[in-house]
Amino acid sequence: MTRSDPAIVILGNGSLTTARRLQQVYPGALIHGLAERVDGADRIYHDFGATLRELYQQGTPIIALCAAGIVIRTLAPLLLEKGAEPPVLAVAEDGSAVVPLLGGLGGVNVMAREIAAHLDVAPAITTSGELRFGTCLLNPPSGYTLGDLELGKRFVSDLLAGETVRIEGSAPWLAQAQLPEDAQARLAVHVSHAERSPVANELLIYPRNVLVAVSDEVADVPNVVREALHRAKIAVQSLACLLAPDSAMASQALREAARELGVPLRFAAVVGGACELARQAIGSGVCVVGDDAVAVALAEQPLDPMHIGRARGRLAVIGLGPGAAELMVPAVKAELARANDVLGYETYVRMAGPFRADQVLHCTDNREEMQRARHAFELAAQGRSVVVVSSGDPGVFAMAAAVLEALHESTDAHWHNVELEILPGVSASLATAAQAGAPLGHDFCVLSLSDNLKPWSIIEKRLDLAAQADLALAFYNPISRSRPWQLGQALDIVARHRVPETPVVLGRDIGRPGQTLQVTTLGQLTPDQVDMRTMVLVGSSTTCVFARADGGTWVYTPRWYGNKP
Ligand code: SAH
Repeated sequence: MTRSDPAIVILGNGSLTTARRLQQVYPGALIHGLAERVDGADRIYHDFGATLRELYQQGTPIIALCAAGIVIRTLAPLLLEKGAEPPVLAVAEDGSAVVPLLGGLGGVNVMAREIAAHLDVAPAITTSGELRFGTCLLNPPSGYTLGDLELGKRFVSDLLAGETVRIEGSAPWLAQAQLPEDAQARLAVHVSHAERSPVANELLIYPRNVLVAVSDEVADVPNVVREALHRAKIAVQSLACLLAPDSAMASQALREAARELGVPLRFAAVVGGACELARQAIGSGVCVVGDDAVAVALAEQPLDPMHIGRARGRLAVIGLGPGAAELMVPAVKAELARANDVLGYETYVRMAGPFRADQVLHCTDNREEMQRARHAFELAAQGRSVVVVSSGDPGVFAMAAAVLEALHESTDAHWHNVELEILPGVSASLATAAQAGAPLGHDFCVLSLSDNLKPWSIIEKRLDLAAQADLALAFYNPISRSRPWQLGQALDIVARHRVPETPVVLGRDIGRPGQTLQVTTLGQLTPDQVDMRTMVLVGSSTTCVFARADGGTWVYTPRWYGNKP
């Protein structure tokens, strides 16, 4: 199993030094610091419990610099749920103790040893098998997989009770463990890709050294794969990856088949049938059984699927929300974590960070949108995981439409094969409205006042009709240095249809440092109160205001219209 980068979670500045030392062990790890308590963390959080649980549920290894009890209590509600358990460790804030808590099969003891070695202390390892043999038999290294966990636990407890063991097959890591080996032992560890039902007193470990290639015409892929493996007398557990021709890259059926078989799906340019495809992909491998449709190939060593052919490229157009990390949807956070390349206007790319050293940032000017969209497809078509960032929602005056336009204009099959996904965000109008109350609580109209990409006459017409229709209005791009007069004109048009007392909300840098929220009226509003970082919300005839207990003003537009029901 390959481990993702851990999250280092700290509650105060006192833990920063130790946290930084842990970052030397895991350079990709980010330090998550409690807001207002920690200066200089990579990520800020507000709620310790919610943050820890979210990391756990995403399968992120957690190193918490706090009391073990706090971590246990926080994660306890999640422990009864089934699912993969990431490593979770508590480390004393001064680095004097390292306590592995959860994730015994996810390598927590390995991490505890790595951390303890760096901090020059003894790890608090309590797993008997680990202590006695120096390795977790039930957690073989990447490239190998355990046959049956329950049998394995029984096997380890027999060993702990004093039994000896034989090792059959090649298991380089076991040679280094301190196992009580004996050629005559009753217990045996059997390492092989052969299909075999376990006999009594046997622990089966499978090397993942088998590849199955399929052509794009195969139906019912999972069964075809299982049958082919069975014909070759190879265990399905040894399957390392499924390989298909480039032409099948967008196939939904293949994607589901790989998921069902639990292996990565990779692609290669096809020359000849499936057997040839397989042989080319793994070089020295032998094709055991195969025809044009499906082929099984065997390598001498475990295969690393990441080095076979290439993945289907992925392009996600994401919305960061207005700025604050809590307003970013979890799917967007997960997408940023998996990205190889991040493209966008520099301000937004910075807002989306921090990034790991292996992630490539492509910052461009705000106006080069089509060029950025095409660049994103070029990168994704190489099999990379690419993210294009927008602020707010990517579909609201932002990159999603530009990316789709670039794809629509392209005849390149590689671009069309990319897995494209648009992930939504909280748009500035909604973030601003929420802070003011509910000014958009009834029908409303969203307009960009920028005449860069549309004629001003169209904007005037839409404004006039929307104002006449008594819709509440949300103005994006209300003003800029190159468009100084447009907002004044827009307000004049609206004033033809609305009374001067109509409530207006101005949200500036909402969700960002230094945010301001102002409630005024149409009659009092002047363009100099507005800049390009402002959201302007103009109420309808029913929008009303009343005082908040804290001195501010609530603004809302009732859900009913005409007579109150
Ligand atoms: N996709 C973005 C909008 C991009 S257009 C979204 O959905 O929010 C840029 C305009 O959005 C700015 O001129 C400003 O009017 C508004 N805007 C973006 N972020 C904002 C914020 N944090 N606070 C107030 N207005 C914002």
